[in-house]
Amino acid sequence: MKDYTQPEFHVDIDYSKCHKCGRCVGQCGWGVYKFNERPIPDDSKCRACHRCVTFCPAHCITIKKSELAYRENANWEPQTRKNIWRQAATGGVLLTSMGASRPQQSIFDHLVLDACQVTNPSIDPLREPMELRTYLGNAEKGPAIKIETPLTFAPMSYGAVSLNVHKSMAMAASRLGILMNTGEGGLHADLYPYQDNVIVQVASGRFGVDPEYLNRGAAIEIKVGQGAKPGIGGHLPGEKINQEVSVTRMIPQGTDAISPAPHHDIYSIEDLRQLIYSLKEASGYKPVGVKIACVNNVGAIASGVVRAGADYVYLDGFRGGTGAAPAVIRDNVGIPLEIAIAVVDQRLRDEGIRQQASIIAAGSIRSSADLAKAIALGADSCAIGSAALIALGCHLCQGCHTGCCSWGLTTQKPELTRRLDPEEGAQRLVNLVNAWSHELQEILGALGVNAIESLRGSRERLRAVDLDEQTCKILGVKPAGM
Ligand code: SF4
Ligand code: SF4
Repeated sequence: MKDYTQPEFHVDIDYSKCHKCGRCVGQCGWGVYKFNERPIPDDSKCRACHRCVTFCPAHCITIKKSELAYRENANWEPQTRKNIWRQAATGGVLLTSMGASRPQQSIFDHLVLDACQVTNPSIDPLREPMELRTYLGNAEKGPAIKIETPLTFAPMSYGAVSLNVHKSMAMAASRLGILMNTGEGGLHADLYPYQDNVIVQVASGRFGVDPEYLNRGAAIEIKVGQGAKPGIGGHLPGEKINQEVSVTRMIPQGTDAISPAPHHDIYSIEDLRQLIYSLKEASGYKPVGVKIACVNNVGAIASGVVRAGADYVYLDGFRGGTGAAPAVIRDNVGIPLEIAIAVVDQRLRDEGIRQQASIIAAGSIRSSADLAKAIALGADSCAIGSAALIALGCHLCQGCHTGCCSWGLTTQKPELTRRLDPEEGAQRLVNLVNAWSHELQEILGALGVNAIESLRGSRERLRAVDLDEQTCKILGVKPAGM
């Protein structure tokens, strides 16, 4: 059936500068270009991933937003109309990837940090030692996990991302003294040398899970929910299950990998407790964390998770990324991470169990400022997924679910995956985390404290700008000027 949508982008080539080298043809994962004496683009295939723009030696390609004018209608936005046309043509659920892109309010952008002036001296991080080392786990039983800076790499499964992405994160985590997270796709043998810096995940599909896998990780994580798609499962298409992914996931090659929406053995906090302790027993009592999506009642859910024996609660906010999700879920389900951190931290404090587990916050941590604000709201550390992919070249084109990523990140096509050199990828990630760590030290110095511990849950050092009274109350943050 004819698709009534029009191309979103226009590929403009300045042929007076073009070398006719054909590099753009090879660089595009979506087959935008054909070559007939010169490159001929097909606008309808362009996702604005900018791979061709970056690698064109003549810098003669410009990707523009389509100038097509839709009749203005504040109620029926162009995207809404396009979605209806697509669904009328296909009858299907609209799939998308990466984080939510609707213009929802970012609370982080409405929070500002304090700084010392006159009577309370600031500290110069270039002259004074600044402690960023963070311990995660049950403080009553002694620290379980040590990380040198309060950041980890968020779970992204092998299969959804390429092996070279996993290798880049594992090498970077090992060099930085932090952790990467397998996501739900198992642990490839090439990552065994880095296993002390790896969290192994157990999700509803149980892909790649056996006693050896559990024993290799520094910690184990039970994934209950994901910020980008709370309440629903996952689907990795058979085309992405090549021989190596199939061995790592322990499923037949070429079959779809379906993660059920619920864990079929968890229907209560007691069931969760049983799984946590089964995993601990199977792994010689390694720390076990639980990842949940930020939803209504997240405070009560997190309290149950901690009471079930989890060493950390991983909160994934509604702006978190995904390899594939229905757009309607990604853009409309869940609550903001900032609210969830504040509510969970407060709830655990009120119940006197805050010291029994750490909080890892994730779901669009975009900068060291977001990291500092998340920690001031009550998180112990943060995890980055989208930011890590961006560091590796991702241009947020939201085409991960197609398996054609031109940057070689969310694809299993060998001609694309080899575009990421794991050594270079690891160095990019090390650079990013080091840069954020330096900035975090600058923030601590401005606040007049010399350890990240002093910022944790210190909401008094935050102020709100342009947030309503009720939101300020939930966050436990005063408006600026008070
Ligand atoms: S990569 Fe640039 S210079 Fe080479 S053919 Fe394409 S547009 Fe022309
Ligand atoms: S990972 Fe690749 S496909 Fe996904 S948004 Fe980034 S550039 Fe696009």
